[in-house]
Amino acid sequence: MRLQTIDGETTKLRSEIAALPKRLAALEIKLQSEKAAVEQAAKTLKDEEALKRRLESDLKDLQQKIAKLRDQMSNVKTNEEYRAFQHEIEFAEGEIRKIEDSELEGMERAEQLEQKRKAAESELKDSAKAVEIEKEDARAAAVEQQKHLGELTKRRATERALVPEELLRIYDHVAGSSRVTGVAYAQGQRCMSCHMGLRPQMWNQIRDGQIMTCESCGRLLFYDVSREPQPEPVAEKPKKRGRKAPEAGVE
Ligand SMILES: [Zn+2]
Repeated sequence: MRLQTIDGETTKLRSEIAALPKRLAALEIKLQSEKAAVEQAAKTLKDEEALKRRLESDLKDLQQKIAKLRDQMSNVKTNEEYRAFQHEIEFAEGEIRKIEDSELEGMERAEQLEQKRKAAESELKDSAKAVEIEKEDARAAAVEQQKHLGELTKRRATERALVPEELLRIYDHVAGSSRVTGVAYAQGQRCMSCHMGLRPQMWNQIRDGQIMTCESCGRLLFYDVSREPQPEPVAEKPKKRGRKAPEAGVE
């Protein structure tokens, strides 16, 4: 029973040890996605800046074009030519206004993007800090877990050395299968693991101290008289009463 308790603890501990890297990996994935969000925000901002430079260059071209047109306009001879130049200048000025509107919109977008980038960066910073703390805790926990595992392994070896080889063989066979445990209490004429009733003869043998295996689940059955319900069957009651009567008489 002690060996089974140790084996149970060991199994639980090993699954905790195995769960830790998975938890850390999940944290790492969260961190990566936040990093990607920061990079995406920075890239969008960069695209916006490139657009701004392109608009500025277009604006400059148009201004130069207008200056050139005004120059040429001073040499025209006819009203018709004059109006043609004027028309072209007005068109270019219209284009400039469109670009200026786009620039204004771009500035507003850039401002929002900058805020978004800052928020993403601060979120990442907080997460990175939280992950660092979690990792530190996990490292400390891992050290404790390994220490505990070492102790369990030692205790396990000590307990196993006390169990007869034949019983260990049965225990290992049953516990090693999908059942996990290899020992069960026999109590109230039942196997307490699979709850199968025990044949009267077997129940007697077990109570006589013989080690038997459950016919249903194969576990080693362990009898502990202290686990049996204490009030004895009804048949004993008249005896007690009979014994008490003389005592009363003595008084
Ligand atoms: Zn059983």
